[in-house]
Amino acid sequence: MAMTVCPECEGKVSDKALACPSCGYPLEQQKGGSAWPGVFGGVAGTYISAQALVTIIVGSIMFIAFAAIMIAAVLS
Ligand SMILES: [Zn+2]
Repeated sequence: MAMTVCPECEGKVSDKALACPSCGYPLEQQKGGSAWPGVFGGVAGTYISAQALVTIIVGSIMFIAFAAIMIAAVLS
């Protein structure tokens, strides 16, 4: 079994792996014709987007809370 290099994190990955074990990057399958890698890529993309969305929402709440505390501190 040959080893290849992940284009995302440059870690060593089996050429038969569907995704990088280090970073989860979905790898292209050179042979086979299965739709599974594409489906996996779509799921991974949705997961990353959901994570980013949560980060943005939590970040916004933290920023608003911080701003409110700072305003209260300045006004008092
Ligand atoms: Zn990787």
